[in-house]
Amino acid sequence: IYKKKVYNRVLIKLSGESLQNEKKTGINQFFLYRIAKDIKEIVQLGIQVSIVIGGGNLFRGSSLTNIGVNHIVADHIGMLATIINGLAIRDILFQKKVQSYLMSSFSIKGMCSSFNLDKARKLLSSNIVIIFGGGTGNPCFTTDSAACLRAIETKSEIVLKGTNVNGVYSADPKKKLNAIMYHKLSYKEVLDKELKIMDLSAFILARDYKIPICVFNINTPGLLYKIVTGVQEGTFIGY
Ligand code: UDP
Repeated sequence: IYKKKVYNRVLIKLSGESLQNEKKTGINQFFLYRIAKDIKEIVQLGIQVSIVIGGGNLFRGSSLTNIGVNHIVADHIGMLATIINGLAIRDILFQKKVQSYLMSSFSIKGMCSSFNLDKARKLLSSNIVIIFGGGTGNPCFTTDSAACLRAIETKSEIVLKGTNVNGVYSADPKKKLNAIMYHKLSYKEVLDKELKIMDLSAFILARDYKIPICVFNINTPGLLYKIVTGVQEGTFIGY
Protein backbone atom coordinates (compact mmCIF):
# COMPACT_ATOMS: atom_id res chain seq x y z
CA ILE A 1 0.00 0.00 0.00
CA TYR A 2 1.30 3.46 -0.85
CA LYS A 3 1.73 5.50 2.30
CA LYS A 4 2.23 9.22 2.42
CA LYS A 5 4.87 10.81 4.61
CA VAL A 6 3.80 13.49 7.07
CA TYR A 7 7.31 14.88 7.62
CA ASN A 8 10.04 15.96 5.22
CA ARG A 9 12.94 16.16 7.65
CA VAL A 10 13.25 14.33 10.97
CA LEU A 11 15.95 13.85 13.58
CA ILE A 12 16.22 10.51 15.36
CA LYS A 13 17.82 10.33 18.80
CA LEU A 14 19.34 6.90 19.33
CA SER A 15 20.46 6.36 22.90
CA GLY A 16 23.52 4.33 23.74
CA GLU A 17 21.26 2.14 25.85
CA SER A 18 19.30 0.99 22.81
CA LEU A 19 22.54 -0.10 21.14
CA GLN A 20 23.88 -2.15 24.01
CA ASN A 21 24.05 -5.94 23.94
CA GLU A 22 22.75 -8.49 26.46
CA LYS A 23 25.82 -7.97 28.63
CA LYS A 24 24.74 -4.32 28.91
CA THR A 25 27.91 -3.13 27.26
CA GLY A 26 29.30 -2.87 23.75
CA ILE A 27 27.17 -2.86 20.62
CA ASN A 28 24.35 -5.25 19.77
CA GLN A 29 24.81 -6.52 16.22
CA PHE A 30 21.15 -7.45 15.72
CA PHE A 31 19.94 -4.06 16.81
CA LEU A 32 22.36 -2.31 14.45
CA TYR A 33 21.08 -4.21 11.41
CA ARG A 34 17.46 -3.83 12.42
CA ILE A 35 17.64 -0.09 13.01
CA ALA A 36 19.52 0.34 9.73
CA LYS A 37 16.63 -1.46 7.98
CA ASP A 38 14.07 0.80 9.70
CA ILE A 39 16.03 3.89 8.71
CA LYS A 40 16.31 2.70 5.11
CA GLU A 41 12.52 2.30 4.98
CA ILE A 42 11.88 5.92 5.85
CA VAL A 43 14.69 7.24 3.65
CA GLN A 44 13.04 5.41 0.75
CA LEU A 45 9.86 7.34 1.49
CA GLY A 46 11.83 10.49 0.66
CA ILE A 47 12.28 11.61 4.24
CA GLN A 48 15.48 13.47 5.11
CA VAL A 49 16.97 11.86 8.18
CA SER A 50 19.60 12.85 10.67
CA ILE A 51 20.63 10.85 13.71
CA VAL A 52 22.09 11.97 17.01
CA ILE A 53 23.82 9.08 18.64
CA GLY A 54 24.37 8.52 22.37
CA GLY A 55 27.26 6.77 24.04
CA GLY A 56 25.93 5.36 27.31
CA ASN A 57 26.47 1.75 26.17
CA LEU A 58 30.21 2.39 26.16
CA PHE A 59 30.93 5.27 28.53
CA ARG A 60 28.77 7.66 30.45
CA GLY A 61 30.28 10.62 32.29
CA SER A 62 28.65 9.74 35.60
CA SER A 63 29.99 6.18 35.72
CA LEU A 64 33.53 7.45 35.16
CA THR A 65 33.31 10.12 37.88
CA ASN A 66 32.23 7.29 40.21
CA ILE A 67 35.66 5.72 39.73
CA GLY A 68 37.44 9.01 40.33
CA VAL A 69 37.90 10.46 36.83
CA ASN A 70 37.55 14.25 36.73
CA HIS A 71 34.07 15.11 35.45
CA ILE A 72 35.20 17.15 32.45
CA VAL A 73 37.53 14.38 31.31
CA ALA A 74 34.74 11.86 31.95
CA ASP A 75 32.48 13.84 29.62
CA HIS A 76 35.19 13.94 26.98
CA ILE A 77 35.38 10.15 27.16
CA GLY A 78 31.57 9.94 26.92
CA MET A 79 31.58 12.14 23.82
CA LEU A 80 34.28 9.98 22.21
CA ALA A 81 32.06 6.94 22.87
CA THR A 82 29.33 8.47 20.69
CA ILE A 83 31.80 8.61 17.79
CA ILE A 84 32.49 4.89 18.18
CA ASN A 85 28.75 4.18 17.93
CA GLY A 86 28.47 6.58 15.00
CA LEU A 87 31.23 4.81 13.07
CA ALA A 88 29.43 1.49 13.58
CA ILE A 89 26.06 2.83 12.44
CA ARG A 90 27.55 4.56 9.43
CA ASP A 91 29.17 1.33 8.35
CA ILE A 92 26.03 -0.77 8.71
CA LEU A 93 24.00 1.86 6.81
CA PHE A 94 26.65 1.74 4.10
CA GLN A 95 26.31 -2.06 3.94
CA LYS A 96 22.53 -1.61 3.59
CA LYS A 97 23.18 0.80 0.71
CA VAL A 98 21.94 3.85 2.57
CA GLN A 99 24.11 6.86 1.82
CA SER A 100 25.25 8.37 5.09
CA TYR A 101 27.76 10.78 6.48
CA LEU A 102 29.21 11.04 10.00
CA MET A 103 30.01 14.44 11.45
CA SER A 104 31.72 14.95 14.77
CA SER A 105 31.26 18.03 16.95
CA PHE A 106 35.02 18.09 17.49
CA SER A 107 37.85 17.31 15.11
CA ILE A 108 39.00 13.69 14.79
CA LYS A 109 40.83 13.88 11.54
CA GLY A 110 41.10 10.72 9.50
CA MET A 111 37.94 8.98 10.69
CA CYS A 112 35.11 11.41 10.06
CA SER A 113 34.42 15.03 9.20
CA SER A 114 33.83 17.79 11.66
CA PHE A 115 30.41 19.34 12.10
CA ASN A 116 29.55 21.79 9.35
CA LEU A 117 26.01 23.08 9.28
CA ASP A 118 26.03 24.26 5.67
CA LYS A 119 27.29 20.90 4.52
CA ALA A 120 24.83 19.03 6.74
CA ARG A 121 21.90 20.95 5.27
CA LYS A 122 23.11 20.34 1.72
CA LEU A 123 23.59 16.62 2.30
CA LEU A 124 20.19 16.33 3.94
CA SER A 125 18.59 18.05 0.96
CA SER A 126 20.15 15.33 -1.21
CA ASN A 127 18.58 12.67 1.02
CA ILE A 128 21.88 11.61 2.57
CA VAL A 129 21.55 10.47 6.19
CA ILE A 130 23.66 12.54 8.58
CA ILE A 131 24.93 10.99 11.80
CA PHE A 132 25.86 13.63 14.33
CA GLY A 133 28.44 12.30 16.77
CA GLY A 134 30.30 13.89 19.62
CA GLY A 135 27.22 15.31 21.37
CA THR A 136 27.30 19.09 21.58
CA GLY A 137 31.10 18.98 21.75
CA ASN A 138 30.96 20.41 25.27
CA PRO A 139 31.09 18.74 28.66
CA CYS A 140 28.15 19.11 31.08
CA PHE A 141 25.64 18.41 28.31
CA THR A 142 23.92 15.27 27.06
CA THR A 143 23.22 13.85 23.65
CA ASP A 144 19.56 14.81 24.19
CA SER A 145 20.72 18.44 24.19
CA ALA A 146 22.70 17.69 21.04
CA ALA A 147 19.56 16.18 19.48
CA CYS A 148 17.46 19.29 20.15
CA LEU A 149 20.28 21.60 19.09
CA ARG A 150 20.91 19.79 15.80
CA ALA A 151 17.16 19.59 15.14
CA ILE A 152 16.92 23.37 15.49
CA GLU A 153 20.01 23.97 13.33
CA THR A 154 18.93 21.61 10.55
CA LYS A 155 15.30 22.83 10.72
CA SER A 156 14.06 19.31 11.41
CA GLU A 157 10.32 19.07 11.97
CA ILE A 158 10.46 16.65 14.89
CA VAL A 159 12.82 14.85 17.27
CA LEU A 160 12.01 11.13 17.33
CA LYS A 161 13.37 9.89 20.62
CA GLY A 162 13.78 6.14 20.75
CA THR A 163 13.49 4.51 24.18
CA ASN A 164 13.04 1.05 25.65
CA VAL A 165 9.41 1.69 26.64
CA ASN A 166 6.36 2.51 24.53
CA GLY A 167 6.12 6.18 25.41
CA VAL A 168 5.84 8.59 28.33
CA TYR A 169 4.12 7.17 31.42
CA SER A 170 2.67 8.72 34.57
CA ALA A 171 5.18 6.62 36.55
CA ASP A 172 7.89 4.08 35.76
CA PRO A 173 5.92 1.28 34.04
CA LYS A 174 8.53 -1.26 35.15
CA LYS A 175 7.91 -0.39 38.81
CA LYS A 176 4.22 0.65 38.87
CA LEU A 177 1.68 -1.62 37.20
CA ASN A 178 -1.02 1.06 37.16
CA ALA A 179 1.16 3.61 35.36
CA ILE A 180 -0.71 5.07 32.40
CA MET A 181 0.83 5.99 29.07
CA TYR A 182 0.12 9.42 27.62
CA HIS A 183 -0.52 9.70 23.88
CA LYS A 184 -0.27 13.46 23.65
CA LEU A 185 1.23 16.02 26.01
CA SER A 186 1.99 19.72 25.88
CA TYR A 187 5.42 21.02 26.91
CA LYS A 188 3.70 22.64 29.90
CA GLU A 189 2.07 19.38 31.01
CA VAL A 190 5.46 17.63 30.91
CA LEU A 191 6.95 20.33 33.15
CA ASP A 192 3.93 20.55 35.49
CA LYS A 193 3.75 16.79 35.96
CA GLU A 194 7.57 16.60 36.23
CA LEU A 195 7.67 13.83 33.64
CA LYS A 196 11.12 12.59 32.70
CA ILE A 197 11.56 12.75 28.93
CA MET A 198 15.03 14.15 28.61
CA ASP A 199 17.16 16.40 30.76
CA LEU A 200 15.69 19.80 31.41
CA SER A 201 18.11 21.90 29.34
CA ALA A 202 17.43 19.73 26.29
CA PHE A 203 13.66 19.83 26.84
CA ILE A 204 13.57 23.61 27.30
CA LEU A 205 15.49 24.01 24.05
CA ALA A 206 12.84 21.96 22.24
CA ARG A 207 10.04 23.95 23.85
CA ASP A 208 11.54 27.38 23.17
CA TYR A 209 12.20 26.56 19.52
CA LYS A 210 8.88 24.73 19.11
CA ILE A 211 10.39 21.40 18.10
CA PRO A 212 7.90 18.60 18.79
CA ILE A 213 9.20 15.37 20.30
CA CYS A 214 7.86 11.88 19.76
CA VAL A 215 8.94 9.32 22.37
CA PHE A 216 8.59 5.81 20.96
CA ASN A 217 9.77 2.24 21.50
CA ILE A 218 12.97 1.77 19.52
CA ASN A 219 12.73 -2.01 19.90
CA THR A 220 9.57 -2.33 17.81
CA PRO A 221 10.51 -2.95 14.17
CA GLY A 222 8.70 -0.76 11.65
CA LEU A 223 7.56 1.83 14.17
CA LEU A 224 9.58 4.64 12.62
CA TYR A 225 7.76 4.05 9.33
CA LYS A 226 4.38 4.20 11.06
CA ILE A 227 5.22 7.44 12.86
CA VAL A 228 6.46 9.26 9.78
CA THR A 229 3.36 8.21 7.85
CA GLY A 230 1.08 9.68 10.48
CA VAL A 231 0.11 6.68 12.61
CA GLN A 232 -0.33 7.68 16.26
CA GLU A 233 2.37 5.73 18.12
CA GLY A 234 4.25 6.50 21.31
CA THR A 235 3.82 9.89 22.97
CA PHE A 236 3.70 13.13 21.02
CA ILE A 237 4.84 16.27 22.84
CA GLY A 238 4.16 19.67 21.33
CA TYR A 239 2.13 22.82 21.90
N1 UDP B 1 28.37 14.09 26.76
C1 UDP B 1 28.87 15.37 26.96
N2 UDP B 1 28.37 16.40 26.22
C2 UDP B 1 27.43 16.24 25.27
C3 UDP B 1 26.91 14.93 25.07
C4 UDP B 1 27.40 13.88 25.83
O1 UDP B 1 29.73 15.59 27.82
O2 UDP B 1 27.04 17.21 24.61
C5 UDP B 1 28.96 12.95 27.51
C6 UDP B 1 28.36 12.72 28.88
O3 UDP B 1 29.39 12.30 29.76
C7 UDP B 1 27.40 11.57 28.64
C8 UDP B 1 28.12 10.77 27.57
O4 UDP B 1 28.78 11.74 26.78
O5 UDP B 1 27.20 10.80 29.81
C9 UDP B 1 27.23 9.90 26.70
O6 UDP B 1 26.11 10.64 26.26
P1 UDP B 1 24.61 10.34 26.79
O7 UDP B 1 24.66 9.95 28.24
O8 UDP B 1 23.75 11.49 26.43
O9 UDP B 1 24.26 9.10 25.91
P2 UDP B 1 22.94 8.20 25.98
O10 UDP B 1 22.30 8.39 27.33
O11 UDP B 1 22.05 8.66 24.89
O12 UDP B 1 23.46 6.83 25.74
